[in-house]
Amino acid sequence: MIIVMSPQASQADLDAVVAKIRAAGLTEHISRGSERTIVGAIGDERPLSEQAYEQMAGVERAIHIVKPYKLVAREGHPAGSIIDIRGIKLGGKQIQVIAGPCSVETEAQMQLAAAGVHAAGCRMMRGGAFKPRTSPYAFQGLGVQGLEYFQAAAREYDMPIVTELMDVRMLDTFMAHDVDVIQIGARNMQNFDLLKEVGRVNKPVILKRGLSATIAEWLMAAEYIAAGGNNNIILCERGIRTFETAYRNVLDVTAIAMLKRETHLPVLVDPSHAGGKAWMVPALSRAAVAAGADGLLVEMHPNPCEAWCDADQALTPQELEELMASLRLIAQAVGREL
Ligand code: PEP
Ligand code: MN
Repeated sequence: MIIVMSPQASQADLDAVVAKIRAAGLTEHISRGSERTIVGAIGDERPLSEQAYEQMAGVERAIHIVKPYKLVAREGHPAGSIIDIRGIKLGGKQIQVIAGPCSVETEAQMQLAAAGVHAAGCRMMRGGAFKPRTSPYAFQGLGVQGLEYFQAAAREYDMPIVTELMDVRMLDTFMAHDVDVIQIGARNMQNFDLLKEVGRVNKPVILKRGLSATIAEWLMAAEYIAAGGNNNIILCERGIRTFETAYRNVLDVTAIAMLKRETHLPVLVDPSHAGGKAWMVPALSRAAVAAGADGLLVEMHPNPCEAWCDADQALTPQELEELMASLRLIAQAVGREL
């Protein structure tokens, strides 16, 4: 951290800053300019608080030099991470399209959905058994019964499953049902106790971006998971809230480029919750792959008109197949494969 003293700072002010740096176990480096003195705090500066220094007498500003996130930062881990999900690699050359319904509804719906996901050439499946709904009166998900329908349908095709964990009390159940990838939804991105718990298990985690989360907040949320020892983290951009009301959210394509620079973690894009309309999904998917996303999380329903949740944005099995065909060409153009 760098502490900039004000031009009026006294020697006593400077001494107090130095004493505080030493008390934290760091050493000081003092640089006296013609107008100001600058003090560098040498050592692990992450635990130091800028505010704690800025409210000291004679201090003008305190600025962290290193990034607040460490384990997820690309600077300490130049190669991109590849997450292994039961032998399927996410983050490597191959792009993974994870498709399936918004929510698990019935056994038959899941069987049809799994057949459609597999037929389209996808290797992993999504589906929510616990649903974060805006209204408490809306369908909340089938719960554990949903996990069972989902696991049985996906295992027919040997596809790993991705499903959302909302409540830390269900983590043991998720482990017992051998959920392959735990999804932390947008609304829980900063549920720090939940993040700490999934940080302790040995399961890949998809961390979706909060509705209005900055990149730094999102990466700090990922850092919580990594700090617990779980490095199998996948980020998922799912659209952010802006002033625009013509569509559900704005897909932040810029975030893909930014994340690729800032972190070694793989990046997924959810075009379904971004646009909120099925007809937008192909265009947003193509943009995501072209921009460097490592995969997509796409909603597909055997019969979208009948979907219990997010009917507007679900692709049909046929549309998913067409999407996969068009993505193949984009993937090739950017040196990837599908
Ligand atoms: C979902 O993927 O089912 C979901 C609820 O998404 P989000 O958390 O991004 O809103
Ligand atoms: Mn949904």
